[in-house]
Amino acid sequence: MTVFCLVELDGDAVADASLRALTLARGLAAGAGTAAVVFGAAPGADLPVVSDLPVVSDLPVVSDLAAYGVGDVYVVAGIDGYAPQAWARALAELLRAATSAPDSSPPAVVAAGTEHGNEVLAHLGAITGLPMAANCVAAVPADGGVLSIVRQRWAGLLLEEAVLDAPAALLTVAVDAVAAEPRPAPAAAAVVHPVSASVGDADLVVRAAESPAGAGGASLATARVVVGGGRGVGSAAGFASLEELAELLGGVVGVSRVVTSEGWRPHSMQVGQTGTKITPDLYLACGISGAIQHFAGCSGAKHIIAINTDPSAPMMTRADYAIVGDLHEVLPALLESLRARA
Ligand SMILES: Cc1cc2nc3c(=O)[nH]c(=O)nc-3n(C[C@H](O)[C@H](O)[C@H](O)COP(=O)(O)OP(=O)(O)OC[C@H]3O[C@@H](n4cnc5c(N)ncnc54)[C@H](O)[C@@H]3O)c2cc1C
Repeated sequence: MTVFCLVELDGDAVADASLRALTLARGLAAGAGTAAVVFGAAPGADLPVVSDLPVVSDLPVVSDLAAYGVGDVYVVAGIDGYAPQAWARALAELLRAATSAPDSSPPAVVAAGTEHGNEVLAHLGAITGLPMAANCVAAVPADGGVLSIVRQRWAGLLLEEAVLDAPAALLTVAVDAVAAEPRPAPAAAAVVHPVSASVGDADLVVRAAESPAGAGGASLATARVVVGGGRGVGSAAGFASLEELAELLGGVVGVSRVVTSEGWRPHSMQVGQTGTKITPDLYLACGISGAIQHFAGCSGAKHIIAINTDPSAPMMTRADYAIVGDLHEVLPALLESLRARA
């Protein structure tokens, strides 16, 4: 089975969520080799928008992909910035070529269950007419050419067993459920295939024209460092120190639902059951109580540091390190020390 995996980049590295998706894709390919699809700005591209995509051939991601069992890397050039329908159009072309190859078994396209991954695969489903299964935690070929899958429902509170019966499978992988595991055997070198997609103007109607300075392309779902702020931050203006801290640590800011309900920050920044699930190396939760609905979105963080005036707040009792104190005193001290180091 040919398994394509849409790979998202976090700065100049493969996003952690994509490494998890590659791990599931490798199991699905069952030794046949996984093909990664990466979108990179065309070398020397002079396009009228600000590119937020690096030139992939200049980056070490190819050897990182090989370590996860990738045999072929398709680098799609010519689409500048994130453009979900155009990305899906390129994937549809690769899928069509794989399906029309002689003696080919049904292929699959896998992506991380991030906002980008889910959005691109939904477009791919619409373009190809294929069904898409989101937030899978397992997928194995079963009798009769179907795929047996387990996927998260109700924000991960329920696991659903289902059968996907389609000429090609489209799956996204729950970002907090599959551990990223490199291939146990030594990696063979991956072959890079530069490809260009035939996209029309209609495919580019929605696209990201620029990224905020310092964002480095990282999204909340894929960032390695997230600085979280809750009601304890006190106001919209209070987030300035969290934003500076996130920039110094190379991360992004996430918030609790209270913050979005107050209108201090948009819903796209919300972490939790009804927001984004995050899996950073470090989650620094400032003035967040740690309600179960918030924790549903951050329990995949490898390390949690909490800052709270209340030592018995659930976030404090679940954190790896807890700082009892007023965040308006702790953060300035932390910033001063980080600025001095920078
Ligand atoms: C169906 C449903 C879905 C939900 N989905 C989500 C979701 O996706 N994400 C989410 O976040 N919530 C969600 N919620 C809401 C959730 O239940 C909580 O209400 C919310 O997470 C609380 O946000 P908070 O921690 O910022 O505020 P609070 O619970 O009010 O906590 C504020 C914390 O800040 C501390 N604090 C105050 N001042 C300071 C200071 N100066 N310095 C340090 N600490 C300070 C306090 O001690 C307290 O622990 C959902 C609720 C429901 C019912």
